[in-house]
Amino acid sequence: MVVRAGSQTLVFDLGSGAVRGMLRSGVDPLAVDRIFLTHLHPDHTVDVVSLLFAINYGAPEKRTLPLYVTGPEPFLRFWGSLMEAWGEWMGGEHATLVSELPQECLSPIVLAGCRLSWAPAEHRRESIAYRLDAEGGSFVYTGDTEYSEAVVGLARGADTLLIECSFPDEAPVPGHLTPSGAARIASEAGVRRVVLTHIYPAADTLDLVSEVSRAFDGEVILAEDGLTFEV
Ligand SMILES: [Zn+2]
Ligand SMILES: [Zn+2]
Repeated sequence: MVVRAGSQTLVFDLGSGAVRGMLRSGVDPLAVDRIFLTHLHPDHTVDVVSLLFAINYGAPEKRTLPLYVTGPEPFLRFWGSLMEAWGEWMGGEHATLVSELPQECLSPIVLAGCRLSWAPAEHRRESIAYRLDAEGGSFVYTGDTEYSEAVVGLARGADTLLIECSFPDEAPVPGHLTPSGAARIASEAGVRRVVLTHIYPAADTLDLVSEVSRAFDGEVILAEDGLTFEV
């Protein structure tokens, strides 16, 4: 998921096919400034490797701007393993500056034109959800999570909540949300709009917009590749 904030291009999670999806949506993957990961599962991280490979070999001119890659603890250990396996390909001439975040946000990170904060999500031990606040509004991305008071708190009053909605209510899976769980977080947090994403096949056959709208009064949108919106 790509956020254009001020002059910066921020990316939150990079699952398989994300780089191709950016190209198809007219977003230049080589111009990404910062990457933030919610957790270390492959469906949220593997295209970091593709992106670095593309930066090193896919452009006529070498990148000189640094690339910032940030993930929740133990991200640095995860990154070390990647570098051990593919460091030669991922290195390049630009600086890749990696950092890891504790689960609790003690003070927000100030970025160009916005502020980034985060909170623990209920999925993997390291999982976090992110919030961006700017003058125009606020945006929250849950990553993978089940119902979580910390995520409700993080999303409080946000304009737009990009929320996972993996499984049907009839067949819930621990660590993930169903339509009623997504609606509960959205309505308790009092967000204006939700965008549903991370939909597994069993949920993909449902009318998720109607199901979420049963328990949430705001706008509900189903995410699809290339969807863009303004906050
Ligand atoms: Zn996951
Ligand atoms: Zn996932």
